[in-house]
Amino acid sequence: MKAIVVGAGIAGLVAARQLGLAGWDVEVLEKSQAPRPDGYMMDFFGPGVEASERIGLYPRLAEAAYHIQSADYVDTEGRTTCSIDYLRFSKLAGGKVLSLLRPDIEAAALAALADVPAGRVRVRYGARVVKARTDGDGVHVLVEDGLRQETGADVLIGADGIHSGVRAGVFGPERDYLRPLGMRAAAFIVTEPALNARFRGRFILTDTLNRMAGLYGIRQDEVAAFLVYRDAVSPGKEAATARQRLRSEFAGLGDAVERLLDLCPGHPYDDTVAQVVMPRWHTERTVLVGDACGAVSLLAGQGGSLAIAGAALLGDILGPVTRTRGIGGALARFEQQWRPVVEVAQKSGRRTAATFLPRNNTQRLLRRWVIRATRLPGVDQLVAHQILRSIAK
Ligand SMILES: Cc1cc2nc3c(=O)[nH]c(=O)nc-3n(C[C@H](O)[C@H](O)[C@H](O)COP(=O)(O)OP(=O)(O)OC[C@H]3O[C@@H](n4cnc5c(N)ncnc54)[C@H](O)[C@@H]3O)c2cc1C
Repeated sequence: MKAIVVGAGIAGLVAARQLGLAGWDVEVLEKSQAPRPDGYMMDFFGPGVEASERIGLYPRLAEAAYHIQSADYVDTEGRTTCSIDYLRFSKLAGGKVLSLLRPDIEAAALAALADVPAGRVRVRYGARVVKARTDGDGVHVLVEDGLRQETGADVLIGADGIHSGVRAGVFGPERDYLRPLGMRAAAFIVTEPALNARFRGRFILTDTLNRMAGLYGIRQDEVAAFLVYRDAVSPGKEAATARQRLRSEFAGLGDAVERLLDLCPGHPYDDTVAQVVMPRWHTERTVLVGDACGAVSLLAGQGGSLAIAGAALLGDILGPVTRTRGIGGALARFEQQWRPVVEVAQKSGRRTAATFLPRNNTQRLLRRWVIRATRLPGVDQLVAHQILRSIAK
């Protein structure tokens, strides 16, 4: 059996590995020239933990993890207003929370392809898929240069992220499925030894209205930046490039943020914060996985975790299929089992959208109060979040 996977992100690589281990021949087509180095720090917990333990990926992830002690909200003078204790957060999540950079998860999934017998999974970088469809004869995929046409595979797996082209080609245009949550998020990594020394081991978040900057020191001398702001152009803040937009949206947040913005690359990651909601994720020979069909958004804090768990489940269900006519049923079972898990996380992400960026001082004070309350014995985060949501309505 042969699969073509579009996208070598977390979901695509894990799906490819699991199918390769089950004996499938897998071609992964990735538009980037090499693994993408850009990324942000992610909390890794929930279904991806159990799944990565089951498929043997967890040790590689644990090795790449950062040890963050706290997430500290600070005012523009750099004074801490409230803190989230990661040890406590980790205990509430059953002791299994890893702090991982997105590119490190991807690198771990790529390295884990070494577990598959040589030649069974091939990852082709610099291969942008411009057309993909399936019919009775199999999978037809056209790669950008127009010279390469892949045919003859049994299954097409769209693991090409929130703006999936496979989804657009097979299921319909993006506007039918993308649900924006009213914010944008940007992320980039800069080399800045002084800031690295200041923020290593601490996740710093600005305690600000309508926008939030996050920074953390990584590796030897780098700092990862994460910026979230409202998805509306503020009067006088129209900008030609993402870098200019970030400069004007995040002006006046103190010296550390100013320095980050000075070093911001010309084209940082900067995208709308959105979910993907679709009535159906598969056809007879095509299936979507990861953000392509069920993006939960950064507000749910579980997209990477769900990308691994969903791809692993797809491998479990599709892997044993040995005849073309068994594919449709397997894809239906995958969707039936996985959709409820994704929907729960999406609901949680939508609820968080109401309070993630406080709109006024009252909401900000409430957030501080809730975060402080989570440090009290007997008050867990769930209770605290419920209180916050009910007050914020
Ligand atoms: C700022 C931010 C913070 C986040 N924080 C967290 C967090 O704390 N915890 C968490 O679990 N999740 C978090 N997430 C979500 C998480 O990063 C995603 O859910 C996860 O990476 C999705 O993986 P994926 O493999 O489905 O898609 P992607 O990572 O988007 O991978 C898709 C791949 O497909 C490739 N591709 C696209 N189009 C084509 C094409 N036409 N041809 C070939 N290749 C193509 C892309 O280049 C890419 O490599 C966050 C996301 C953002 C943006």
